[in-house]
Amino acid sequence: MNAISADLACGAGGMAFEEARARVLALAGAPMAAEEVGIEDCIGRVLAASVQARLSLPGFDQAAMDGYAVSAEGLRAEDWLPVAGRTAAGEPPGWLLPGSAHRVLTGAPMPWGADAVVAQEDVLRRGGMIRLRLAPLPGAHRRCQGEDIRAGAELLPEGRLLDWRHVTVLAAQGLSAVPVRRRPRVVLMSGGRELRAAGAPLRPGQIHDSNLPMLRALLRGWGAEVEARPVMADDAAAMREALRSAAEAGADLILTSAGISVGDEDHLREALLSLGGSLDVLRVAMKPGKPLGAGRIGNSVFLGLPGNPQAALAGAVAFLRPLLARMAGAGEPGRLMVRAGFGMPRRAARAEFVPVRLVQRGACLWAERTGPGGSGRLMPLLEADGLAFLPAGPDALRPGAPLEVLPFRDALAREGEAAGD
Ligand code: AMP
Ligand code: MG
Repeated sequence: MNAISADLACGAGGMAFEEARARVLALAGAPMAAEEVGIEDCIGRVLAASVQARLSLPGFDQAAMDGYAVSAEGLRAEDWLPVAGRTAAGEPPGWLLPGSAHRVLTGAPMPWGADAVVAQEDVLRRGGMIRLRLAPLPGAHRRCQGEDIRAGAELLPEGRLLDWRHVTVLAAQGLSAVPVRRRPRVVLMSGGRELRAAGAPLRPGQIHDSNLPMLRALLRGWGAEVEARPVMADDAAAMREALRSAAEAGADLILTSAGISVGDEDHLREALLSLGGSLDVLRVAMKPGKPLGAGRIGNSVFLGLPGNPQAALAGAVAFLRPLLARMAGAGEPGRLMVRAGFGMPRRAARAEFVPVRLVQRGACLWAERTGPGGSGRLMPLLEADGLAFLPAGPDALRPGAPLEVLPFRDALAREGEAAGD
């Protein structure tokens, strides 16, 4: 059975969401090629190889406080010691003379023969002598070589999405560049003769294009390189030409909004097939976002999102984001398990996506709806933190029930971990 007849076999309700998602992810193929980038430019990139520690950290035993290095054995409170020698951070290690204390500053290498640092607050200094307030313990205020990181230990696995935390540790390891995956190149097209870019005057019946700016912003945030090519037309020839040139330009992914449905003005499917492209998904049992096409043209993956803004967003969050993560060799985007702050009747046969705001109440995160339903509405997006995901199933959603959310930002969700883990 070819892809389209397989899809049509799912009936007018569309392909089950999980099946469609698996098919979209399978389009990703091998991860993008690796390239080296400086650590100042690696944020938001996906690591192409694991990183092992090349340096132990600390690299040498060092003082953790400003104070006096001593050999702790046999020392008692009230003992007087002469101060002989001084080592600051950045200097080579000195020697502790037997029966003396050696002035050290934080980060200085421990003098040979010393095993503890007495903090300067814990001594009385008189000229060249100090008196200990307390008996020092061996190892006090000393950082040992390798106690933080051991040379050879695995620091970061391949596939890790890099941020400031990784930059910090990579820099401390003395690494100035890391291998990362090339950013997927996405050609983004929005089609429809009613569309005008922001800034252009509107004639009767026209609207401003909001999907293209939305998708461009989302794509950039998700690590793609984006080239926007609006097609302000509704004819098969224009669509065909736009698809052909995007595929020839070497796009890793061609992303379209609108025109993938079955209306008289929806020409994408015909244009794609006439170019020898294939469709593995055509309609998905989800609301909003049922008209959604996914397949290939030449070497490019094709993803056709619906035109209604909330439907385009649901398709972007549910399919585009994990597809890009897979293309870049990264883990699954994070999900959250929270409590439903609302109830909803359900339809057994389709998954639903609902814009929600996350609210902390007591020790729990709750998801509240940000507006009434309607896939053309934009206002509910302004306050939303993510889309609640209700899998297909017969049971109504009850207030207080566990609810999965696909967050727009990842601060609260760990990538690669399923909700509820
Ligand atoms: P279509 O998928 O072409 O049937 O479009 C469905 C609805 O989404 C229509 O109301 C379109 O006007 C609207 N729409 C299509 N493309 C966009 C866009 N780029 N920005 C905002 N709305 C759009
Ligand atoms: Mg249209």
